[in-house]
Amino acid sequence: MEIPDYLPISYLNQYVYCPRRFWLMFVHGEMDVNAVLLDGTYKHQRVHQSGVHWHPDGRQYTAVWVWSDALKIAGVADFVQEYDSDDLIPIEHKRGRMGKYLNDHVQLCAQALCLEERTGKTIDYGEIFYWKNRRRETVRLTDALRDKTLQIIDEVFALLAQDNMPAPIDHPTKCRDCSLEPICLPQEVLQLMKEQS
Ligand code: SF4
Repeated sequence: MEIPDYLPISYLNQYVYCPRRFWLMFVHGEMDVNAVLLDGTYKHQRVHQSGVHWHPDGRQYTAVWVWSDALKIAGVADFVQEYDSDDLIPIEHKRGRMGKYLNDHVQLCAQALCLEERTGKTIDYGEIFYWKNRRRETVRLTDALRDKTLQIIDEVFALLAQDNMPAPIDHPTKCRDCSLEPICLPQEVLQLMKEQS
């Protein structure tokens, strides 16, 4: 398959959740629109209107295009808070509850790496707002998270170069929450693979 010049940052999130989900969405263009997804799309539409809002201690930009020429990734940050102190804080909105997995953290970190490259400033943390339980999580951009994000970017490019759809993950909880489960058929495929091995 043709390797894209720049990976969309939101697909890094999908890859961390499940490489097969990433493949189904990015390569096959699969998108099972269910009520949860529609709700998320509606909430993101409200977020994804570019603009700037003024606060007593700075400015908040919405729907900010970010990219890294070094890492070959690009995407849209829901919000970027710019304080008068010069600090930049990327803020991501998610429709669900506070994440149990690292996928949202990697997406946020990728946005921060892009902002750092564009501005030359160091970003210490970002925030994720979860609509479902109205919780705001502060995510420290530790060396470990930065390394993990770089590793994921490499893995995704390598996967695309291999041009081979990943097998389903053996993770019933993730699969239960995955909108692509009816297309992916993880249990059936895993069973077939077991029988053929
Ligand atoms: S159903 Fe499971 S294995 Fe299939 S794409 Fe979703 S998370 Fe991945």
